[in-house]
Amino acid sequence: MKYEYDLIIIGSGPAGFSAAMQSTKFGKKVLLVEADEKHLGGAWINAGTVPSKALREAASSIYKYNQLFSDQSDKKVYHRYKMSELLRFKDRVVSYETSEVKRNLIKNEVHTARGMGKMSDPHTVEVTDHLGKVKNYTGEYILVATGSSAQKPTTFKVDNKIVVDNKSLVNMSHVPRRLVIIGGGVNAIEYATIFAALGTKVNLLSSRDEYLPFLDSEIKEEFNRLMDRHRLIIHTGVHVDGVALNPLRNCTEVKYHNIETKENRVIETEQVIHFGIRKPNTDNIGLEKLGIETDDEGYVKVDGHYQTSVKSVYAAGDIIGFPGLASASFTQGRIASCHMADRESIKLTGSHPFGIYTIPEISSIGLTEDEAKAQGIDYAVGRAYYKELTKSSVSNTDIGILKLVINPENRQLLGVHIIGDSACDIIHIGQTMIKNNVSINYLIDNILNYPTFSEAYRVAAFNGINRIEKRGLKYQNGKS
Ligand SMILES: Cc1cc2nc3c(=O)[nH]c(=O)nc-3n(C[C@H](O)[C@H](O)[C@H](O)COP(=O)(O)OP(=O)(O)OC[C@H]3O[C@@H](n4cnc5c(N)ncnc54)[C@H](O)[C@@H]3O)c2cc1C
Repeated sequence: MKYEYDLIIIGSGPAGFSAAMQSTKFGKKVLLVEADEKHLGGAWINAGTVPSKALREAASSIYKYNQLFSDQSDKKVYHRYKMSELLRFKDRVVSYETSEVKRNLIKNEVHTARGMGKMSDPHTVEVTDHLGKVKNYTGEYILVATGSSAQKPTTFKVDNKIVVDNKSLVNMSHVPRRLVIIGGGVNAIEYATIFAALGTKVNLLSSRDEYLPFLDSEIKEEFNRLMDRHRLIIHTGVHVDGVALNPLRNCTEVKYHNIETKENRVIETEQVIHFGIRKPNTDNIGLEKLGIETDDEGYVKVDGHYQTSVKSVYAAGDIIGFPGLASASFTQGRIASCHMADRESIKLTGSHPFGIYTIPEISSIGLTEDEAKAQGIDYAVGRAYYKELTKSSVSNTDIGILKLVINPENRQLLGVHIIGDSACDIIHIGQTMIKNNVSINYLIDNILNYPTFSEAYRVAAFNGINRIEKRGLKYQNGKS
């Protein structure tokens, strides 16, 4: 063999892991290089997806249990449940998921090398281990899947005690009474609802003009209603000037100003979580030496097969930019492996679902009503409110909407938008219907399990069909 390996992967997150699994299924010899001395799985398992979702699940269960069975005494949720209990659950999940990654790599005979990987030519990766020892490995192909990291704040310090980030929040000793979250992305908003569900008074400070601007406006209205209920406040268009301890008042003060009006404000808090803007991990991995092209923001440029400007080098996951999700990274890594092995694979189209793991979840796919309107597309909508579902009654929930954006001509779906329990799961019904051009008649001509949250599709389909049939009569004046 000309090279020691068929494929060398730099980074063991979802992009690297799935590429390794797929390549070994094709009988390829694979080496996985990971910089982290102890952990495999990257942000996916160690600092991002899995730990945050485990904490979310714990907080959501506590919230539900409390709503159902608490005696409504003055005791707050954070008095009843300790942060250490939530973290213990999270640790158990992370430990299981880590062992699953290891088990799969061993079972599929993927070799691993610990250390910093750097490409020295289009077929060689130089690995420097933690003692400074350097070893070179050669491969026919290289996949760069080094992920992304959060930028550090410039106006204050993350001390990992009072001010924590998405990694060090696992050191929080208790559920704080008051919390300031700095950051306006999905992760920041997810954590804001996690703590709000635990009874914490949360203020979120974001420099962006708007939060979750891509949401359908009705879904956002429902989210706003939920924020009021949880006393969660989002301040947009603000810049944080500093975070400092006020010993006289025995609290931490977050100083910020409104970017437009320049008005200065202060919030007193117990704890701060900072979510920095994420940047691709491209430093010192040999991109410049090989002349691999990056875009203006530093993300590696790839084609539809995830091949870079150097033929033997592929890139997948957060390092190539949008959407920067574990869900997409798994598929990108797999598609890259298929292309290297000359195997047929799917081509990703632009239309994939987004899942936001707030409490409750938000998920969407396809056109929003606002987009359909702006693009001058003829559309109708069908809505189901969760409070109309028996499943919601038995689940003790009343927040939620499922909204279908429908092509009135053929009754096929243009988009699905959901806020409510199980939104991130049931969105896949809509995804399947969109991909296969299925008419909403399917939803009323077939039996669906009852009671389920999926039943919202049927209710929304009836509502949409009524609207389509009564067009020009009841639903006039440009109303959908
Ligand atoms: C708080 C949070 C919550 C999230 N929640 C979700 C969610 O619910 N759903 C979802 O789909 N996505 C979620 N994400 C995003 C998801 O975690 C990332 O999109 C995903 O992990 C990116 O995968 P990756 O393979 O590109 O890189 P990563 O998972 O970041 O892995 C990259 C790996 O490369 C290693 N590495 C870096 N440089 C080198 C080098 N030079 N040599 C060797 N190894 C190197 C790193 O140590 C790391 O292990 C979340 C992220 C965060 C931060």
